[in-house]
Amino acid sequence: MAENRTAKHVPLEAKSPFDLRVDLGNDIPETDVRTALAQGDMGFMHSFTTGSAVDGPGVRVVGWTTGCMWRCQYCHNPDTWTMRNGIPLSVTQALEELRKYRHGLKVMSGGVTMSGGEPLMQRRFVMKVLSGAKAMGIHTAIETNGFLGAELTDAELDAIDLVLLGIKTWDRERHRALTGRDLEPTLEFARRLATRRQPVWIRFVLVPGLTDDPADIAQIAGFAARLGNVQRVEVLPFHQMGRFKWETLGIRYALETTEPPSSEAVAEACGLFRSQGLTVH
Ligand code: SF4
Repeated sequence: MAENRTAKHVPLEAKSPFDLRVDLGNDIPETDVRTALAQGDMGFMHSFTTGSAVDGPGVRVVGWTTGCMWRCQYCHNPDTWTMRNGIPLSVTQALEELRKYRHGLKVMSGGVTMSGGEPLMQRRFVMKVLSGAKAMGIHTAIETNGFLGAELTDAELDAIDLVLLGIKTWDRERHRALTGRDLEPTLEFARRLATRRQPVWIRFVLVPGLTDDPADIAQIAGFAARLGNVQRVEVLPFHQMGRFKWETLGIRYALETTEPPSSEAVAEACGLFRSQGLTVH
């Protein structure tokens, strides 16, 4: 990507979302932030990364938005929790970035995925970017926890070709302890997408001692299978690549000593999803 320097001379493109980024939007007055969020003409982005083969089909550009209302114990990118840690960016600038890649993305059967953070925290901005991308013929995806899915209109959902939906755990109390929020809005969004027959990939992070209860995983698997629109399930092994961010930001990290799951545990979790007839990666 050609170098695109924005606020505080931080390049919009990052090597990976694991780059630590803070305070990049602090110069923007609060009233401007509120107006931008209400209208969606401007948003806040941690970065764009290119060449991703793991955030939807084909090779993709991923837009990492800032802002999240959850506080997952295993979050890899806690610097994206705060919206103003991101680079302020107009819809026009975001679409200029995507325009550079539109031919290559088509050749590589890829597209753009808006992730985060939680992209629906900036849903008006994100939907303008995705609608603009779709108008360029680019495949569009969103990676979301689904908590704010009810706020998307059907017309906005029409601009999303694929939803990567994170389901963290089934047990309601554990979900609240793990994320700080209730599970039900996520499930409600999943049901709505199923009614619309909109393609969904379910993402499940396997964390030893936290999300590896087989009965819990079986419940998620059964739910996903009954939806009828889940094209694949991705079981993502927990890792510690984001630990340094928690330490640098001075946030207490509960999983400091948690190890990644064994290959046997990952295989067992995949098996629970496969036993429901789901395609697992
Ligand atoms: S929903 Fe995603 S970005 Fe938000 S806290 Fe959880 S893992 Fe982090």
